[in-house]
Amino acid sequence: MTEALSVGMLAEPAPLGPARTAEPRNRPRVLFVTHTGTMSGAELVLRDAVAPWAGSTAFLFEDGAFAGILRGLGLEIRLARPGAGLSGLRRDASVLRALPKLGRLAGLALDIARAARTCDVVYANSQKAFLLSALPARLVGRPIIWHLHDILDGAHFGRAQRIVQARLANLCATRVVVPSRAAADAFIRAGGRASRVSVVPNGLDLDVDPRSPAALRAELGLPAGPLIGVFSRLAPWKGQDVVIEALARLPGLRCIVVGAALFGEDAYAAQLHALAAAHGVADRVLFLGQRSDVPRLMQAVDAVVHPSVDPEPFGRTLVEAMLAGIPVIATDTGAAAEILDGGAVGTLVPPRRPDRLAAALAVLLDDPDAVAARTRLARDRALTLYGADRMRDALTQLILDAAARP
Ligand code: UDP
Repeated sequence: MTEALSVGMLAEPAPLGPARTAEPRNRPRVLFVTHTGTMSGAELVLRDAVAPWAGSTAFLFEDGAFAGILRGLGLEIRLARPGAGLSGLRRDASVLRALPKLGRLAGLALDIARAARTCDVVYANSQKAFLLSALPARLVGRPIIWHLHDILDGAHFGRAQRIVQARLANLCATRVVVPSRAAADAFIRAGGRASRVSVVPNGLDLDVDPRSPAALRAELGLPAGPLIGVFSRLAPWKGQDVVIEALARLPGLRCIVVGAALFGEDAYAAQLHALAAAHGVADRVLFLGQRSDVPRLMQAVDAVVHPSVDPEPFGRTLVEAMLAGIPVIATDTGAAAEILDGGAVGTLVPPRRPDRLAAALAVLLDDPDAVAARTRLARDRALTLYGADRMRDALTQLILDAAARP
């Protein structure tokens, strides 16, 4: 029998009936489990999703900016005992590398089980969080939702990891939430059950304060002239190096690179600077580091480039650019084609092809008026499909459904 994939937000969203949005005191208590204290896309999504759950609990494997933000949103914070976390362990690490940590991980799982007993639903916001929470949640008889923010494919995870995660999900997860069909397909290809999956696209706040590009460029100390931007944390699979290589083919074009190596990719960050120098474009690339005003900065550029070389589960920066009304060029991998409506509202280029990226940029920058209509369509699409309220409503419904299960 073919199992049905529940497409939470791309098809008709389930209505939130009055009986389900009960008084806060009748609401289930949720235990949100998240492994990192650092803010990348998955943490920004959780930040925007927890608004209806003030009074619930967040369990973090490590302290950091995220703990403070969740506390400020009204969640009770429980931190794992120091050193118990998995932050030093790469997500694609082999089982052998995890072995020395097994004792501490077991302690962590026990702490999660204790916290889960005080709640009605467990919500694991990352792959590591799910690995550590799945069995404890089941042990204490609580439903567990896995918000899978990754593409479970060979580019990001080893075969054994994919199998273990998909089987664990089939065994334990009440629901697996993914942000795109691409992520759903990868989960199912890894052996995950289609009937467990709900697609809930990431949603973003929609207010973009219009800014003058000239003022923003002056603030950044940049002269007038064509300017593009990349707005992603620095990591080899995010592909900033491809943009630098494309830049070498386009004299006169400048680029701002926004984002930092959040998860230890410092060698890659250094490599980007070296690459810019080697190509003689160092004076045309401005590295701005991690910023908290990405949508504002986007308005300084003529085009946003999203150059990921491996499949993206979603790509919040694509939606941010669409909302900011800035033309987008993205690599055709993972969810980019879904978000850009198959290329109807943005340009798609093959990954790892600086020549093709340079050609697409030349076309776009040569005749900005030609893409203006498409950019307006992109904004309408983002406003319709990728609002934070829409995401919150869909996730709230899934949590209420999980809590209502016998
Ligand atoms: N971002 C940010 N500051 C930066 C670079 C990126 O706040 O300097 C934000 C960006 O605006 C986006 C998120 O980080 O909202 C990245 O999400 P995405 O889904 O694009 O990628 P992820 O980091 O989850 O792989």
